[in-house]
Amino acid sequence: MTVKTEVKTYQNLINGQWVDAQKQEVEKSINPADYREIVGYVPLSTAEDVDMAVKAAKSAFPHWSKLSGGARGDVLRKAADLMEQRVNDIAETLTREMGKTLAEAKGEVMRAVAILRYYSSEGMRSIGEVIPSNEEGTLLFTSRSPLGVVGLITPWNFPVAIPIWKMAPALIYGNTVVMKPALEATVTAMKVMECLQEAGFPPGVINVVSGSGSKVGNALTEHPDVKAISFTGSNQVGQLIALKALERGAKYQLEMGGKNPVVVTQNADLELAAELTVSGSMKSSGQKCTATSRAIVVKEVYDEFREKVLQKVKGIKVGNGLAADTYMGPVASQNQYHNVLAAIQKGIDEGGHVVWGGKPLDQDEMAYGYFIEPTLIENVDPSMWIAQEEVFGPVLALIKVDSLDEALQVANDVKYGLSASIFTNHLNEVFQYLNEIEAGMIRVNGESSGVELQAPFGGVKASSTQAREQGRAAMEFFTTIKTVTIKA
Ligand code: NAD
Repeated sequence: MTVKTEVKTYQNLINGQWVDAQKQEVEKSINPADYREIVGYVPLSTAEDVDMAVKAAKSAFPHWSKLSGGARGDVLRKAADLMEQRVNDIAETLTREMGKTLAEAKGEVMRAVAILRYYSSEGMRSIGEVIPSNEEGTLLFTSRSPLGVVGLITPWNFPVAIPIWKMAPALIYGNTVVMKPALEATVTAMKVMECLQEAGFPPGVINVVSGSGSKVGNALTEHPDVKAISFTGSNQVGQLIALKALERGAKYQLEMGGKNPVVVTQNADLELAAELTVSGSMKSSGQKCTATSRAIVVKEVYDEFREKVLQKVKGIKVGNGLAADTYMGPVASQNQYHNVLAAIQKGIDEGGHVVWGGKPLDQDEMAYGYFIEPTLIENVDPSMWIAQEEVFGPVLALIKVDSLDEALQVANDVKYGLSASIFTNHLNEVFQYLNEIEAGMIRVNGESSGVELQAPFGGVKASSTQAREQGRAAMEFFTTIKTVTIKA
């Protein structure tokens, strides 16, 4: 792979202008498939930059919020068109900055395009209901109003789709935004923001401030003029944000980790189950919040399922995500690399048996990247660390159980509850699973990862604060209800 030499320095977007961070500091963003390649330099901003962005968003709010939903939608539609025109460039940048394959990166960009188009019409749909009044000559109804300036804090694993699925509903309902992307994927996020900026949002409506979580994310969370924070990321950071938001009475929404199970019963199509368990656990190198990390399999079909999964995992082509035949790229950063390898070691130390993988890959073209073998671990007791905690890497734990009842008990016996799948063709098993599984998103005979963009996205338990994202459900977080009573 050739190492690119022209390296651009990116800027913050504040009040309609691209500007350097006040302190002029930058950080390099590197390619995890070849850490010698610098993808771009991005601003290391501070609380001062955040304050400027919030002020801009605050002064843009009165005008933007008064525009008609149709007029706001026109700008979103234009942004979608620009992003679609640039799909190849944004996707290639995403692969170079974060490591996922080009096919997945293109899919992510096109999802963001579709989200923008979906929300571009949302400003013309109903935002309230008429409630029959008990009093004569009285009109009683609800209406929804925007919140004001909204802070958006996003992770590196979907640096195109997640900012857009927060920003599009925030904007269409009349809010103005300040976004802080994850430092590891800021170049990609900036290319997305370029499309939005060129689409013609009035100055101050969309702002982006790049930098560390402890400085920029924290300043955004603490800013008194930020009325709400929508966060996606780890539980550890989410909890900090929730406490700070609560302290100053700001609205908050957290989407966090998962430990997503697939349950396989003796009534499953095992070929399908193996196929979708492998793609659910290994695509994007397992770095999706909805990635499959536990396969809980009843004993009658355990050996056959294990064999099918093993054969498929053995066939996975690991490499640079830009190469057409790559199934799985590197993990996204040095941090990820060390954390995932440490998690595998913990699994081994606690008695897990590595059926396949478990080691770094550093031959040939992988010599300068953060590559890890797709890893299957069995002999996993549900109480082990590797069965309880999010690994966020290409690691699948196989757990053998006696029955569907036990499978459900194991599936639910974790602090998370984001997504969950079952593979079975038995209707009673489907209904039992739907009734008893503790998860926000459930699939029957489908991969645990992802959900269509027009449907609610989110989890239960420690995975989420339960204000759903995506589709019409996003209205709940990004607006507030006004109840109106009018007497004739
Ligand atoms: P992270 O929590 O480390 O970072 C997320 C964002 O928070 C980044 O922009 C970061 O800079 C910022 N941040 C860090 N410290 C902060 C602080 N003190 N105050 C304010 N902001 C701060 O998460 P990550 O490593 O970027 O992403 C991986 C995690 O995200 C995984 O746990 C994954 O499951 C989760 N995730 C969840 C979903 C979901 O929808 N449930 C989707 C994708 C990723």
